[in-house]
This record gives sequence, C-alpha cells and structure tokens, in this order.
Amino acid sequence: MKLPSIVLRSAPLLVLATAACVPPPGANVSAPPPAALESSQPGVAVGSPGLVSAADPRAAEAGVQMLRLGGSATDAAIATMLALTVVEPQSSGIGGGGFLVLGDAAGAVETIDGREMAPKAATPQWFYVDGKPLAYGDAIPGGRSVGVPGNLRLAAMAHNGKGKLSWRTLFQPAIRLAREGFMVTPRLNTILAAASRTGALDPAARALYYGADGNPLPVGTLIRNPALAATLEAIAAKGADSFYSGDNATLIASKVGTAPRNPAPMTTADIAAYRAVPRPAVCGSYRQYRICGMGPPSSGATTVFAILKQLERFDMKALGLASPVSWHLIAESQRLAYADRDKYLADADFVTVPVSGLTDPAYLATRSALISDKATMAAALPGTPPGVRTAFARPAAQEENGTTHFVAVDRWGNAASYTSTIEGPFGSGLMVGGYYLNNELTDFNIVPDKDGKPTANRIEAGKRPRSSMAPTLVYGPDGRLRIAVGAAGGVTIPAQVAKALIGVLDWDLSAREAIALPVVFAPGGDMIFVEKGTSLETMIPALQQLGHAQVMARSPSFKANAIERIGDRWIGAADPRSEGAAVAP
Ligand code: GLU
Repeated sequence: MKLPSIVLRSAPLLVLATAACVPPPGANVSAPPPAALESSQPGVAVGSPGLVSAADPRAAEAGVQMLRLGGSATDAAIATMLALTVVEPQSSGIGGGGFLVLGDAAGAVETIDGREMAPKAATPQWFYVDGKPLAYGDAIPGGRSVGVPGNLRLAAMAHNGKGKLSWRTLFQPAIRLAREGFMVTPRLNTILAAASRTGALDPAARALYYGADGNPLPVGTLIRNPALAATLEAIAAKGADSFYSGDNATLIASKVGTAPRNPAPMTTADIAAYRAVPRPAVCGSYRQYRICGMGPPSSGATTVFAILKQLERFDMKALGLASPVSWHLIAESQRLAYADRDKYLADADFVTVPVSGLTDPAYLATRSALISDKATMAAALPGTPPGVRTAFARPAAQEENGTTHFVAVDRWGNAASYTSTIEGPFGSGLMVGGYYLNNELTDFNIVPDKDGKPTANRIEAGKRPRSSMAPTLVYGPDGRLRIAVGAAGGVTIPAQVAKALIGVLDWDLSAREAIALPVVFAPGGDMIFVEKGTSLETMIPALQQLGHAQVMARSPSFKANAIERIGDRWIGAADPRSEGAAVAP
C-alpha cells in the first residue's frame, strides 16, 4: 500500500498581521490567510528554546513567543490555548474545557482535569422536555448544554505549578490577535457557512463573523474581536478568578438563563464553585514504551491503551501498514476497547470507574484473545475487568467535532500535551465577552438509563461529562520522551491517537507520516468506517473477506498534532487534513 500523500505543514516563523499593515475590520484583503510553509522540517535541537505544534499556526506562534521569552512548555501551551480562543473560535477556548498532560525530562507525568461541570440544578432528566428526551441536535443550542467552563482554572493551576513567565505575559499574543485582527481561514469560513444553516448562533457572533448579507465573512477577511480583547485583558490583569466571579460570571449565568433556546438555571455560585482537579496520570507499557494519558472523566487514556495493549501479541511491524490484516486487527481491538469505554467510563467522582482493571495487562490479554487475525469476532461486548461489581450500559456516543489539540516542548525537556474544546462547532452558539460557551453537557448520556439501569455517564449535579479527549505522552526505553500527541474528532480521538502511535512505534514512520495515515474507526457493533478517498477504501473488499460485513467509507474531520523526539532533535507534526503547523522560535 502506498502511503497517502503526506503534506508537511511546518511554519518555522510566521509574520502575523500587525496594526501597522492591517486593513479595517470586515475588509476583504487579497493576501491569503496565514498558512504553514512547506519544508523538510528539520525540527529543533533538544535544549533549544523549544517547539509548538497546534491546529492554527498563529496560535502555535503565540506559544513560541513564550518560549522565546524563556517560558516553559506550560507557558507556551496556555498562550496557545488563549490564542486558539481567538483564531479558532469554532473549536475551543476559554468558554470551554480541556485536559492537560505534563511531563518533565525525567519522565514524571502529571495531569490536570479542566473538564466542564454540570450546574447544581442538573438532574438525570436535564435534557427532558414534557417527559421526553430532546433529540441530540435539539439539545445542543442554547443554555442547557453549557457546562461551567474549566480552561482558565486549569491554566491557573498549571501556571502556578510550572509557569516561568508572568500570568499577564501569557495573554499578550491572544490580546493582540483579538485587538489587531486575524484573517478568516478556509476552514473557519466553511464551518461558519455550515453553522449559519442551523440558525443557532448568537447575534453577537453573527455581528462578528457574518456580513450584512448574512453570509460568513470570506476567506482572507480581517476580523477584530474587541470584546474578547477586553475580556482577555481583564483576566490577564485580575487573574483567573475574575472569570469565575463578578461581571463575567453574571454574564455567563444570565446568557445561559435567558437563552432563546433551552434556557437553563446556571447560577453565579455554580461558576464560582468550579475547580480544576489534578488527577493521577494513567500509564501503562506497550512493547518497550511507556504510554501516559488522561484518566476519568476522560476515556482517552484507557481506550488508547486498550487498543494498543490488545494488539501487543500481534507482530504489527512484520504485518506492516500495507496489509489489510493490520487494519482488521486495529478495528477489532477498537471494537473491544470502545465496548468497555461505553460501559465503564464516566466521571470517577460520581461512579466507580475500574481504571486499574481496564488497564490491567492480564485483563487486556483476555480481551486480546478474542481477536483473530483470520476473521472478525461475532460481537464485541464489554468485558468484566478486575474491580467491577456493577455493570452500566449506555447508548452510542454522538460527539461532534469542535476541539483542538496542541503540544509544546521547552528548553528543559518538559512537554505539555493539551486538548481543549467547546465540544461541537461553536459550542452552544451562545457568546459572552467575545467567546463561545461550550455545549459540553451533551457529552453526557441524554437518556440516563439503559435496560432499566442508570448509566455511568448520566447527568448529575456537579458532574463532568465523559470525554474522548486523549492528550498523550510516550516515553522510550531510554526514559526520554518519544512523542507527545493528541487529536480532535470526538469519539474518534482514541482511534486517531492509537493509530498514530502504531505508525510511529510499530511501523517506524515519522509522527507526520503516522498522523497522515488513513483512519479506521470501529466504535462497536458491526459497522466499521474507513477514511474515504484513502488506501483504506481500496481495502474494503479485503476487510469484507475477513468478515467485516458493514464497512463504510466516510470522511469526518480528523485533526491531530504531535511533537516527537528523534535523536537530539524535536520534530513537530500537524495533520495534513488541517490548517495546523509546528512552529519553532
Ligand atoms: N467533546 C468531545 C470530548 O470531550 C470532543 C469533541 C471533539 O473532539 O470534536 O470527547
């Protein structure tokens, strides 16, 4: 099998629009939007100021500015998260949440949970109207889907522990982008066009991103977001707590409470009560590598790890990426891993999540024994990992794409792997202070029970919805960081991350090549999806012969970012399907 063509998107240094040369807001400029430069990507030396890879080169450049000033990977990651709030408003931002995995040069790994939280008024029937559950699409717009945002308390906790620059400094690139303007990219334009059809967007957002004719501003248009610049300036000056109190908290509560669709009772007390939480990293070994990631309320680490560990007894390297059997095995392993994810993963502060059972090598060996390289298993059912007493079931997840992943490494060898989200494109559609409020609560099970039993991921007051986000760090046998990686794409995230790791660790591809490999996605049941227009589509007959009766070619939105270490160099990788880039100081 030929590798799909791999476009290297690397932007060593981008000159961003500045006040001196920008046209007025709304003007359609002829210059193309900032795009990553193609290069052979030699990377940067370990020990140099570092490197950032993100889904938007302007946000990566914001992180790089921190590295230039002597900042840490944590500083760079926070500046990138803030800049993404401005330039990738459809995906993530301070109105949403995220997970941050931090590793130091000696291999110590910490994780911070900045997942959004359901308000105190929430009940398992939160999404019920007149005794009936809302359809998923109807639950998204407006107030009911909004969780208390977590990204700024996450950022403050990380900065307190690992920041080297002042809090205020981290905000400067994002403030500049919001105040001086940023250009509409093709991706933003496309997503704005799709969002306008749903009619769910806030008037403030319409005024910002759409013309008087109601059409999205064209590619290349300069957008200024002074409301967001003012919000960021206030938080830069007064600290993260100012987001969770005072005017900003009042604005969020009233926006959610008076939303034209699905108004919901979120109080300023709900907002003030939000805390980021340090969680134990979930780590395990795959071949000679140590894989570490984000535990509950994310299903990321347990699912990525199960997919890999169940494949360990197969000689993936010998099979190679051209063999349909390799992709069949990956799909089978996913089917098992997703069955367990669906049954057991939720907020561990509310339900017992058997994390050590789910990552127990002996348990995963029993799961792996269900996989055959000759034929598909009839049904991929959840197992009973050690430590489980109660079994929960849940309906199939229906996550959408509105997320972003970025990674930073610094001169001390620290790495930050951060996935940030507002859940679906433009989140709830509600805008406060120039930023979008998330719709993360639709990551809960809208219908709380299954077969008469409560599901683990049912909605409860103060609970955090299960996530698929999988910020990951992998250490090599020498104890050094080998790769930091993560992705956007809802429930496909663990499949994307595991595939990228198989590409790097088993098939000796670069991180860029591994990310560019096509995706197979087998979330359970009999249906498997292969990425449309790729070599996997041509393998459909071979996969059918192995027993996969229902194989569909689809092209959902995949978007991964990584930094890997090769010898004494850091090399960045961004998904060729995206506008992302790796940027060096
Ligand atoms: N809200 C999703 C999650 O936490 C992510 C959405 C996406 O990546 O598109 O799993």
